[in-house]
Amino acid sequence: MKLFEQQKLKLYNSLSKTKENFTPINEGTIGMYVCGPTVYSNVHMGNCRTFLSFDLVFRYLNHLGYKVRYVRNITDAGHLENDGESGDDPILKRARLEQIEPMEVVQRYTVDFHETMKSFNALPPSIEPTATGHIIEQIQIISTLISEGYGYETNGSVYFDVHKFNEDHEYGKLSGRKLEDMVANTRELAAQSEKKNPQDFALWKKAGPTHIMKWPSPWGDGFPGWHLECSAMSTKYLGKQFDIHGGGMDLKFPHHECEIAQSEASNKQTPVNYWMHANMLTLNGKKMSKSTGNNILPNELFSGNNDKLSKAFSATVSKFFMFQAHYRSILDFSDDAMLASEKGYNRLMDAFHLIDSISPSEKSSFDVTTWKQSCYDAMNDDFNSPILIAQLFEAAKELNSAKAGASTFSKSDLALIKTTMHDFIFDVLGLEDASSNVANDGNQLSGAVSLLIELRNQARANKDFDTSDKIRDELLAVGIQLKDGKDGTSFSLN
Ligand code: AMP
Ligand code: ZN
Repeated sequence: MKLFEQQKLKLYNSLSKTKENFTPINEGTIGMYVCGPTVYSNVHMGNCRTFLSFDLVFRYLNHLGYKVRYVRNITDAGHLENDGESGDDPILKRARLEQIEPMEVVQRYTVDFHETMKSFNALPPSIEPTATGHIIEQIQIISTLISEGYGYETNGSVYFDVHKFNEDHEYGKLSGRKLEDMVANTRELAAQSEKKNPQDFALWKKAGPTHIMKWPSPWGDGFPGWHLECSAMSTKYLGKQFDIHGGGMDLKFPHHECEIAQSEASNKQTPVNYWMHANMLTLNGKKMSKSTGNNILPNELFSGNNDKLSKAFSATVSKFFMFQAHYRSILDFSDDAMLASEKGYNRLMDAFHLIDSISPSEKSSFDVTTWKQSCYDAMNDDFNSPILIAQLFEAAKELNSAKAGASTFSKSDLALIKTTMHDFIFDVLGLEDASSNVANDGNQLSGAVSLLIELRNQARANKDFDTSDKIRDELLAVGIQLKDGKDGTSFSLN
């Protein structure tokens, strides 16, 4: 019997705005599509939060025994500055600035994204398709939309006719917007556009003379609209109808709304059964964003190299920090919150490591079986990681108390609490046993790094900065970050 037959998952569907029982189209298998990054700069911690929220979803579905095909794309063309509709392509802009090929920009930031996801111990998706690798599929959808009367060509560009679609479908059903309101808000823009209506969106854009990322099409040289790639790639790899579609909350409109319109109009089916949206990571109360510069980069966090940070934090501590909030809540990043999370994470890991040193008793004073189910209940309730973590702390409290002789565990319950904590901490939350503080950790790695820290301190005292820098840099090269603070030097694993 698979775990998913016992553990009944509910998830919040952004489309129905309710928590629903989760039933996949084909029993035991799940198709999940998540919008990936636009690769023109390094991902910031906000982007990471969304991808880690879906890593948690992917991990838990796997844990329950589902066979998941997880598709997460790379947007390497078409995402123009103003919600994909107009302005420059930021990839091209960056390429021009640095005088390199757009594909060099794409390659650099795709590699950065992969490395970042790896440092967070996020699982790779099953398929990671790119927009530029699916131009033919996108052109095919446009041809279908034109022949069905939902798309029209003007001057080498093709637009989706939102008003025509709204006659027999409901445009705005995901974001809760009404077409009449959108019309009222955009009336004055109508005159200058080649669109029939300002609400229409681009399926294909004619390439201007300076636009070097372009492909031939029945409508001339151009490039696809941003929303189209996700309709094309989700249909290709998951079918006309699939189970879960995810992305950040800010993609609901226009991106996902337009995706629904394109897919429904071309496939004559509602594409997605469950829409999931992850909420934003904020900094100083404002959304972290690439364009405003209000963000923290993963490397700044791992090195402590940012004015807003008092020290470096490991990737696993940052993940623990994020999972202490539910994925649908806004989360504000701060140094204080990170420090508190680091303490909490260390406390949890210390308790986990106690298990092997606790002597079993005849009977348990703690009901491990009921506790284990409450861990599942938390995750079954729309992936409620903060409640899961509270349950893990509950177990930690009991383990500390057993160590102090105030509570007891039977031998089988000790084994059960160990495997359950292991499953949830490492497999489901995807945390790593990596936080090491020189002062309170006696393992071999800490011993070796402590010795190097001591040698570095001696070198510094002797003004031998070549040696002290070499120790710091070479440790960093193997993923060990030294951080000098007022209480001496500590380290974290990147
Ligand atoms: P982009 O590369 O801009 O297409 O964004 C990649 C993903 O990151 C999308 O799913 C966005 O919704 C998400 N995202 C962007 N900013 C934030 C933020 N501050 N917090 C959480 N997710 C974000
Ligand atoms: Zn998308």
